[in-house]
Amino acid sequence: MNEIKTLLNSLGLPDAAFNGGALVVRSPIDGAVLGSVHTASAGDMREAVARAHGAFQTWRTVPAPRRGELVRLFGEELRTHKSALARLVSLEAGKVTSEGEGEVQEMIDICDFAVGLSRQLHGLTIASERPGHRMMEQWLPLGVVGIISAFNFPVAVWAWNAALALVCGNSCVWKPSEKTPLTALATQALFDKARVHFDAAGGGAPAHLSQVLQGGAAVGEALVDAEQVALVSATGSTRMGRAVGPKVAARFGRCLLELGGNNAIIVSPSADLELAVRGILFGAYGTAGQRCTSTRRVIIHESIHDELVARLDTARASLRIGNPLVAGHLIGPLIDAAAFDAMQQALAHARAQGGEVSGGARVLTDVHPEAWYVQPALVRMPAQTAVVRQETFAPILYTLKYLQLDEAIALQNDVPQGLSSAIFTNDLREAEQFMSARGSDCGIANVNIGTSGAEIGGAFGGEKETGGGRESGSDAWRAYMRRTTNTINYSRELPLAQGVKFDL
Ligand code: NAD
Repeated sequence: MNEIKTLLNSLGLPDAAFNGGALVVRSPIDGAVLGSVHTASAGDMREAVARAHGAFQTWRTVPAPRRGELVRLFGEELRTHKSALARLVSLEAGKVTSEGEGEVQEMIDICDFAVGLSRQLHGLTIASERPGHRMMEQWLPLGVVGIISAFNFPVAVWAWNAALALVCGNSCVWKPSEKTPLTALATQALFDKARVHFDAAGGGAPAHLSQVLQGGAAVGEALVDAEQVALVSATGSTRMGRAVGPKVAARFGRCLLELGGNNAIIVSPSADLELAVRGILFGAYGTAGQRCTSTRRVIIHESIHDELVARLDTARASLRIGNPLVAGHLIGPLIDAAAFDAMQQALAHARAQGGEVSGGARVLTDVHPEAWYVQPALVRMPAQTAVVRQETFAPILYTLKYLQLDEAIALQNDVPQGLSSAIFTNDLREAEQFMSARGSDCGIANVNIGTSGAEIGGAFGGEKETGGGRESGSDAWRAYMRRTTNTINYSRELPLAQGVKFDL
């Protein structure tokens, strides 16, 4: 408890922020209570959205490069406090140290990206059909952006959204996962520090530019229902997206959905198996299989199937499981008992559907009786059955066989989700086919790297039940702005479009 208090204080949180609230926070590492935070009501959310709307009225008029300066200062706070925030991510979400640090690095990277972007929020000039006219397209600030985030990337996902939303001239209201509220409070505290520095330098950032409200689904629903929230960016399960999407659509709001994945790697006969083994193991078992981009399925050519599966299984059994803060441990805990139950249920279904299961048992119960550590599981499946087609948020890798590449691609695509995918091959034709129109149907299609661990420079997101949203790099910023088409007449005539005559 003393470590967490020192850590949270060092990140700018007073004791009252993480004590005495209704939401008790436990570490998945050992079940210890980390704190208890205050939750919001639906009414609190409505008031927060109204304040955010007020903040937007001011912020949208601040020049974008100035807005970028605030994000730059926030990035500086993240650099200064990287190891403290990363340790908090490990304590609260159970990530191994390097992954906690990687998560904060992603926040820094997106801030850098957004700062550059703040000078490049460009539109187009379009040829007008009318003489003496100019037509152009501008991108303008959108409004309040509501951000709902999942436990497994407790702070990076918010940063992907907030850094872009802020340089685009919007205000943000954040509903983090109820499983990871402390990292959200700490992030907000670092943002508030940056805002104070910005204002001290003559900045002019309104007080309620970014707010965080804690609680479960009901608080998220209040955010989703708020008319003044122009864009709801929601990251989490497909179940959550199914609830959120139609509600936002019913009020003609905008939605950016980043939902579940069921990611596969195809391994062809020409693959470099050393690379493939490492890519598959990290993808399937890193973060204890709790990434939206985790590798859930490996589809292996028949000629190398038995050899590769044997190698994967041997390596799987030797992965070091344990306290993620201890150097050398590669697999930390599952987030909670419900995650463990879901994993056991999936393995039972897999057995019933003809699968042969290695691993999957609970371990370390003597050292950590209140935590949920598991052996990663490998399941040899006879076919892509129902359980393989669903996302189980745990370290389970299903293995499947193929003969022809078309068949492998068809298997890879024959799931409801469409987030990430990869092929290991040294055959140029196979690689290009995999990335082509008749290849992978996912938002991410990689060659000779695994399915997880995207860089912020590219647009991130997926198709089908993954929700269709794109965040982070490339032109994802456009989702946080509204487009206006302007036609300017600098002639002395009033020609109508399409040659229409309306002479008075
Ligand atoms: P979850 O769906 O249980 O919760 C996600 C968030 O949604 C939480 O903040 C939760 O309180 C909120 N929520 C739940 N129901 C809601 C409702 N009806 N209205 C409004 N808000 C609601 O997900 P989780 O267990 O925290 O995270 C794991 C899931 O997230 C996995 O399916 C994973 O694939 C997915 N995920 C996707 C991405 C991506 O970018 N595609 C990234 C991370 C996680």
